[in-house]
Amino acid sequence: MPTYRYYCQKCGESFDKRLAISELEHTRIKCPRGHDQVQRMFSAPAIIYKGSGWYSKDHAKQSA
Ligand SMILES: [Zn+2]
Repeated sequence: MPTYRYYCQKCGESFDKRLAISELEHTRIKCPRGHDQVQRMFSAPAIIYKGSGWYSKDHAKQSA
């Protein structure tokens, strides 16, 4: 099974999840803290969520 890396938009946690390709479309992924606002990350370093502001750790602390 491939391992996918996910990023939680809610708390900023990134975590790995092992999923079969067939599960990928149907499985609801949650972060370790239970949020489902997660986004799959791709290994390409070009995709880094910098500068958009909404993900900042300070914001996550305030809303947690
Ligand atoms: Zn989370």
